Amino acid sequence: MAKSAEVKLAVFGRAGVGKSALVVRFLTKRFIWEYDPTLESTYRHQATIDDEVVSMEILDTAGQDDPLQWESHVRWGEGFLLVYDITDRGSFEEVLSLKNLLDEIKKPKNVTLMLMGNKADLEHSRQVSTEEGEKLAVDLACAFYECSACTGEGSISEAFYELCREVRRR
Ligand code: GDP
Ligand code: MG
Repeated sequence: MAKSAEVKLAVFGRAGVGKSALVVRFLTKRFIWEYDPTLESTYRHQATIDDEVVSMEILDTAGQDDPLQWESHVRWGEGFLLVYDITDRGSFEEVLSLKNLLDEIKKPKNVTLMLMGNKADLEHSRQVSTEEGEKLAVDLACAFYECSACTGEGSISEAFYELCREVRRR
């Protein structure tokens, strides 16, 4: 009989990078153009990953204005999806400081993460190269996916599953 596991994932990244769009794409295989940017939600999703039934709780965060709430989200999460927008260099530069904040709160534990460069469909407006994304992932010691919540390209489900595997391995 398959074992069952619970995994808590939190999605972080600058406002507008497409966190909600990515979560909704993963859950429904659809793209929703406009999503309330202030909405913070937790979703439940079950999947069979490598013969194991995994129950995911996915927290789609919004805003960082409240540091206490932010910290409680970080304490809650076991795996983190750090998202940037390939057409927004600032969102890419924020990833490293996000990671440092996570480390600060999670220490002495290592933070389990995944780096995602979203909006890969907007190649003409690209500000961050794939190579830069790959290099940052090496620095963060995590896996890297470039994807588009809009077109669904870039193995979005696989990224979520891989993060689950990482959490389960720790
Ligand atoms: P969040 O603030 O990080 O949750 O970002 P949203 O999911 O609300 O997305 C912000 C904006 O970017 C919305 O207008 C989305 O339609 C758009 N968006 C999100 N993902 C993509 C994508 O992969 N490609 C394109 N072209 N637009 C996207
Ligand atoms: Mg959102």
